[in-house]
Amino acid sequence: MNPDNSLDAERSLLLSTLEATADGILVVDTTGKIVRYNGRFVRMWRIPDHVLASRDDEKALAHVLSQLREPEAFLAKVRELYANPEADSFDVLHFTDGRVFERYSIPQRVNDKAIGRVWSFRDVSDRVDAVRALRRSETLLAEAQELSHLGSWERDVATGDVVWSAEVYRMFGLVDGTDKPTPFEEFDHPDDAELVQRKIQEARSACGSYDIDHRIVRRDGTIRWVQERGDFQPDHSGKAHRLLGTVQDITDRKEAEQRLAHLAHYDSLTGLPNRTLLADRLLQALAYADRHELLSAVLFLDLDRFKNINDTMGHSVGDALLKAVGQRLRATVRDTDCVARSGGDEFVVVLTDVQNVRAVAKIAQTLVRRLADAYVIGGREMFATASIGVSLYPDDGRDVETLVRNADIAMYQAKERGGNGFHFYTASMHAEAVKRLLLENDLRATLSNGGFVMHYQPVVSMLDRSIVGAEALLRWPHPTAGLLPPSDFIPFAEETGLIVPVGMWALRAACKQLQAWQTAGCAPARMTVNVSPRQISEPDFVELVSGALDEARVHPRAIELELTETAVMADVERSVRVLAWLKAAGIRTSIDDFGTGYSSLGALKRFPIDTLKIDRTFVREIRRDSFDEAIASAIIGIARNRRLRVVAEGVETSEQFELLRRLGCDAAQGYIISPPLTAEQFERFTASHRSAEVTG
Ligand code: C2E
Ligand code: MG
Ligand code: MG
Repeated sequence: MNPDNSLDAERSLLLSTLEATADGILVVDTTGKIVRYNGRFVRMWRIPDHVLASRDDEKALAHVLSQLREPEAFLAKVRELYANPEADSFDVLHFTDGRVFERYSIPQRVNDKAIGRVWSFRDVSDRVDAVRALRRSETLLAEAQELSHLGSWERDVATGDVVWSAEVYRMFGLVDGTDKPTPFEEFDHPDDAELVQRKIQEARSACGSYDIDHRIVRRDGTIRWVQERGDFQPDHSGKAHRLLGTVQDITDRKEAEQRLAHLAHYDSLTGLPNRTLLADRLLQALAYADRHELLSAVLFLDLDRFKNINDTMGHSVGDALLKAVGQRLRATVRDTDCVARSGGDEFVVVLTDVQNVRAVAKIAQTLVRRLADAYVIGGREMFATASIGVSLYPDDGRDVETLVRNADIAMYQAKERGGNGFHFYTASMHAEAVKRLLLENDLRATLSNGGFVMHYQPVVSMLDRSIVGAEALLRWPHPTAGLLPPSDFIPFAEETGLIVPVGMWALRAACKQLQAWQTAGCAPARMTVNVSPRQISEPDFVELVSGALDEARVHPRAIELELTETAVMADVERSVRVLAWLKAAGIRTSIDDFGTGYSSLGALKRFPIDTLKIDRTFVREIRRDSFDEAIASAIIGIARNRRLRVVAEGVETSEQFELLRRLGCDAAQGYIISPPLTAEQFERFTASHRSAEVTG
């Protein structure tokens, strides 16, 4: 083969290779003179034909520089490289029209000696554009996520690895790059955590998706509302292996919703529930009353002459007054009761969990009184009163509307009576409630000023008719009704619990009287005092009694407490204990009205008592009815057997007296001897009785 030929072939192979490369190639000698270039170089640099034709390197360089964004920098680089023929160099060139070239400049060596340089240029505009576009779209996405408070995230189900978008970090109050993403569970609000985890588990086992609004707690303690959506992706076997999701901060929306709900349900002036919410609450109260077999009451309240206040003192004063009224109502009733403003100067109070009509009347009265107290508004004292109408569930209506309407009607009745008061919807209920309320008020007043009196009924021995005792009996000198017997107020006092202080008052009064008589030397041997069941169920009953005796300096043996048969039988175990305590304290006890209750003789055996009192009903018929005589006889027989004293009550005739004496009764009390007497009358009776004994 001709060596020239082979050299030619190699040359043309090299040249064609040069033409076929994807880069623009320029070969220069060490002085920078152009030796060769390929077609792509010409096309990439858009070198016009006339410049090529001129073969003027300066012109070509000028053309190249004219297209660059920073020609001086490039020129400086070129010069630097000619000064350093051995240096490699890489650079990125930015064109004024936006194109981007990567530039390489590599020495061309022959026998290890640099004979020139190869410049190659690669157009990377498309790639740079793509990267730029990607960046732009990423930025756009991040911006969009930030704007919509939407973050996206991904989780590997098996490894638990998580990836978050920038907005997720922001939402959770963390810093992208510094803080590590963790599973969301860590942030779940404790009240929501269970529900959230359950929903996620359900979605996971179905390899489906979930969507839930819940609260998160950030590390700094602030609470945000988020909407979390997730979608489990199955692996080839259909099992969930990836979880993709979004999370959006919806705190603003939730707050707006809550504000709206508040506006829709609360009165803006007083902050109380409005009519809409009232209806709701009342409905709940009625359901509650049904379930627990309790009463519910609706109190419709309207301020008296409010228009006057508004007109003369101005609306701002009127508004301040309404606010103050709302606060007083709220402060007066229980937290579980509902206080609402139904419009203008009208308020509605719903009482739940009420035991009886009297309790409702009491609350109504308290509200009327509280509202009538002075208000200080704008530094000035002023007064306002209210009228209240009351309706009761279920008596006065079975639904919300009827109850409110009837309470409103009753309110007008209260207004007609001059305002500053309350009225029940039903007239009879009103009368009864008012009567009881007045009674309770009077009873309390009498108690606090010690306005009761005691009467004393002599008890005489059946052997010689000598006075062996006195039964202390309570009387109430009522301001309008006169002297009331116990039957008119004791049952009521028991119902209200007032019997406890009233009974203690009676015991103290009797002890004091006994002490006075002992000092005067005219005391009966024993003073009997009645005790009601409510008293003995007080935990400190025995201490109270001992205290009263000590206070009056009365010997325990001189006092006998009467407990009715029904009272001791109500709670046998407790009675046995109380009676034993009393006995230990040296205080005598008797069972009153024996024979009227349902004593089991077995129980009687366990009571450590001293006396049995045969009830008046057996004594009354004792002559005419042989059965009553048999009962009296049996009671005396039992008493004898148990070594108890027997006292007959309500002995009115000498026949009854004689018969009882023959049956073996120890003592008697009744009209045949004397009715109950005032203290002075009792003293006179004792004196004359003694002289009768002496003369008789
Ligand atoms: P009691 O303990 O059985 O009192 C006897 C009642 O019979 C007294 O009525 C008395 O006035 C009446 N009485 C006495 N002799 C005769 C009579 O010959 N014929 C008739 N028809 N009645 C006679 P009073 O004073 O009205 O007391 C009624 C009940 O009130 C008492 O029944 C007693 O259970 C209760 N009571 C009275 N004072 C008190 C008290 O201080 N505390 C408590 N817890 N209850 C009292
Ligand atoms: Mg009695
Ligand atoms: Mg009695």
